[in-house]
Amino acid sequence: MAICEKLRIALPVCALVFLAACATVRNPVTGEYERTVMDERSELAAGQKNHQEVLKEYRALDNPLLQAYVNTIGQKLAKASQRANLEWHFTVLDSPEINAFALPGGYVYITRGILAYFNDEAELAGVLGHEIGHVTARHASQRATRQQAAGVGVLLASVLGAVLESKGYGGAGDLTQQVSQMTAAGYIASYSRDQESQADQLGAQYLAGNQYDSARMIDVIDMLGKQEQFAADLARKEGHTPAPRADWLASHPSNDKRLNDIRQTALRYHNPQAAQAAKGRERFLKAIDGITFGESREEGVTRGQEFFHEPLGFALTAPTGWRIKNTSSELVMMNGAGDAALIMRTLPADAGATHADIVRRVFNPVSGRTTQASINGFAATHFVGVARTQSGTQAVDATIISGPNNQNYLFLHAAKSAAILQRERDMLLTAENSFRAISAQERLLARPWQLRQVAFPAGGFAQLVKRAPATLPDAEAQLRLLNGAYPDGVIQPGTLVKTVE
Ligand SMILES: [Zn+2]
Repeated sequence: MAICEKLRIALPVCALVFLAACATVRNPVTGEYERTVMDERSELAAGQKNHQEVLKEYRALDNPLLQAYVNTIGQKLAKASQRANLEWHFTVLDSPEINAFALPGGYVYITRGILAYFNDEAELAGVLGHEIGHVTARHASQRATRQQAAGVGVLLASVLGAVLESKGYGGAGDLTQQVSQMTAAGYIASYSRDQESQADQLGAQYLAGNQYDSARMIDVIDMLGKQEQFAADLARKEGHTPAPRADWLASHPSNDKRLNDIRQTALRYHNPQAAQAAKGRERFLKAIDGITFGESREEGVTRGQEFFHEPLGFALTAPTGWRIKNTSSELVMMNGAGDAALIMRTLPADAGATHADIVRRVFNPVSGRTTQASINGFAATHFVGVARTQSGTQAVDATIISGPNNQNYLFLHAAKSAAILQRERDMLLTAENSFRAISAQERLLARPWQLRQVAFPAGGFAQLVKRAPATLPDAEAQLRLLNGAYPDGVIQPGTLVKTVE
C-alpha cells in the first residue's frame, strides 16, 4: 500500500476519448490494411497519457543500472521489429507482481516480481519481445476498434480509475476478483488468443534477430507453469483453493496449446549459433543481484499474520486464518472463506480537515450515524450509514483513523452480504483494533527481503534454505521456484544461483 497523493477514490472512471474517426492504417506486421479508431498519432497520445498513470500506480524501480540494462535489451529487440521507428520506452516497475505489459505507441513495462524468476537474459528478452509484439502488431488498437464497433466504448484507461463504488460493502461479488481488477492485468487480459499467439511468434522472431536462442521462450512459459503448480500445491497444503491470479500468468496461461505453438515457432526461428547464450545467464544474474524480493519497504511488508508499514509508521495484525493482500492502492485482510474483508486505504490530505468532513466528502451520506473512539491512542470515527454513489445508494460500514504523523486512513468493512457482515463483525473489529504505531522491534522485522547470488552449496537446497529468512513462507519450494528447479530439479554444486536474504 502506497501513500495516496490525490483523492482518487472519488474520481469517476476516466475514459479515453478518441477524437479520430475511423481511419485505415497498414498493419506493420501483416502488411494488411485495417480499419481503426487509432492511427499512429492517437496510439502515441494514448501511450503517453497512460504512461503517466502507470508510473503513478506502480512507480519505476529506483535502480538506474537495472533500468539501463533492461532498456538496452528492449531497444535492441525493438530495432529488430517492424516498428523500429517508434520511440520505445522500457521501464522496470517496483512491484512484486509477476507481470509485464505494454501500452500502444511503444511503452513496455516489466515488474521486478517477474524478473526474480528469470534465470537468463534470453528469458527476459523473450517476455520483452512478446510485449513489443503486442505493440508492433497494434493489438491494443485492434481491441479498441472492436470495442467501439461493438458499442462498448473505448475504456482503455478505466483499469486505473478504480472507484469506491466498485467495492462491495453489502451485496458485493467476489472480493478477491475486485481487488485483482485494480492491477495492470486489466491492460492485457483482453487480448485474444490469436493476438497472444502472434505476440509469442513475434517475440521468438525478435529473439532470433538478436542472436538469442528463440527456444528460450519455452522456458518462460514453463516457468509460468511452475508458478501455477507451486500456487496449487501451496493452496492444497493450506486447505483452500488458489486465489484467482491477476498477473501475466492469468492472461498468458501455460496450457498445452500455447506450449505446443511456441515449440513450433521456436523451431522455426531456431538459431544454433545463438551467440548471446553463453554469457546471458551471468549478465542477467549480476543485473538483478540485490533487488528487493516480495514486498518493498515503501509498500509495507507482510510477515505471517503481521503487516508492517515502516515509512507510514504503523503495524496491523490479521486474525488467525485470515489472509493479507497488499496492493499498490490498498491493504486487504480477508477471512478464510473469502466473503468478508477489511479494506484499508490511505486518505489524501485533501480528503477533509476533520473526520466529519471526510465522512461527508468520501461518502456523501444520505443517512447514518458516527461514533468516536480511540484505537491504541489514535482518534477514530466509525460510520454506519447509506452513501450516495454514481449509480444510486450503498450501505457503508467504515472507520476513519488518524494514524502516526496525522495520516488519515479509511477502513472499509466489506462482505458479500449484510448477514455475513454481521457474522464477521467481531473479527473485522479485532483486525481494525490491532492498528498501532510500529515498535522498534517491528521496524527490524519490516526489513524487505533481497535477492542475492551465491554458489550453490554441496548440501543442496536443504543447505541453501538456511540462509533464507525464517519468515519466508515455504522457503525451499520458493528457492527451487526461483532457480528453475521446482519441484525436484537438480543443480550442480558451485553453479551461481539466486537466494533470498
Ligand atoms: Zn501477451
